[in-house]
Amino acid sequence: MEVRHYLSTQQTEQWAKLVGEAHNIVVLGHAGPDGDAMGAVLALTHYLQAAGKEVVPMTPNACPDFLRWMPGVEQVIFFRNKPGKAQQALDKCDLVFCLDFNSLQRLEDLCAPVENCPAPRIMIDHHLDPEPMAALTVSDPEASATCEILFCILHQIGAYGSMTHEMASCLYCGLMTDTGAFAYNSNRAELFHIIALLIAKGIDKDQIYRNVYYSYTESRLRLMGYLMSEKLEYFPKEHAALFALTEEEMERFHFIRGDAEGFVNLPLQIKDTKLSISLREDTEKPLVRVSLRSIGDFPCNEMAERYFNGGGHFNAAGGWLPKPIDKAIAIARKAIAEFKKES
Ligand code: 5GP
Ligand code: MN
Repeated sequence: MEVRHYLSTQQTEQWAKLVGEAHNIVVLGHAGPDGDAMGAVLALTHYLQAAGKEVVPMTPNACPDFLRWMPGVEQVIFFRNKPGKAQQALDKCDLVFCLDFNSLQRLEDLCAPVENCPAPRIMIDHHLDPEPMAALTVSDPEASATCEILFCILHQIGAYGSMTHEMASCLYCGLMTDTGAFAYNSNRAELFHIIALLIAKGIDKDQIYRNVYYSYTESRLRLMGYLMSEKLEYFPKEHAALFALTEEEMERFHFIRGDAEGFVNLPLQIKDTKLSISLREDTEKPLVRVSLRSIGDFPCNEMAERYFNGGGHFNAAGGWLPKPIDKAIAIARKAIAEFKKES
């Protein structure tokens, strides 16, 4: 089986020129970096460093604890924690990679500093409708993860032979987390061919699974039980579920960054559920974060655009609403009712 060639001849030349002429490179992932963003940022950082580049991996804010095992994570500058250092790297850089996001807005507070940075950009991403913000855009909404596209590009430019086990672990982590450990959006032979090629690099995929999914605190498990038992609203006619998490509850359950990861998927375990919505008060900004997940033909991205100031993929999308959370809950209920009417 072939590994897909994403770059046309012209794009291959463009890549070679942009990367070849760059000395100082900033590699960006989106705000609230997940396994795919961190995996792509770190794998590419390792590759570029091995090619002799000065590389600064950067995300707008910190990654969750369950990604802190990733090789190279200590190099990543979290803009919110070190804005001065981040700005310095942007001032100095001559190339910017944008990984796992399709719009500079997804950089939140880091958006303006990156917009003002004159260096050319290369975007590699799998979200719908990429903004024209890069000199070179490699976008494939059919890909399971940005890490899948990045693997194919590295393979295409001849970097598979020298791919280290660290790079392979980072890429695998992105494939695993963006597919719920290959439970959705992963029904393609090409993906498993790539996984075989990563395992051939000596990665321990079972250990990576444990690092990510078996690394929570006791209070996180109790919070999960509490939410599903006490907070879940279920709408049987609409085949939809909704729950909200307040700051008070987060404090009560000693919430740390990343603890809410995966909660929104849980109600989909109820037979025939089509849609799950989670609301969560943000601890850093005065807003409510919204996550949507669906099974089958329910368009989360449409609902996120219409009701929640956001967007995303067909079966996984997100956005935000202003506080207070009770008003946000009312809007989510309305969204569920109105979508039911239309479908
Ligand atoms: P999550 O629910 O994990 O935060 O986000 C799921 C997906 O929804 C993300 O991969 C991204 O595509 C999309 N998404 C989340 N938040 C936003 C947002 O504020 N704006 C847009 N356009 N998309 C978002
Ligand atoms: Mn992704």
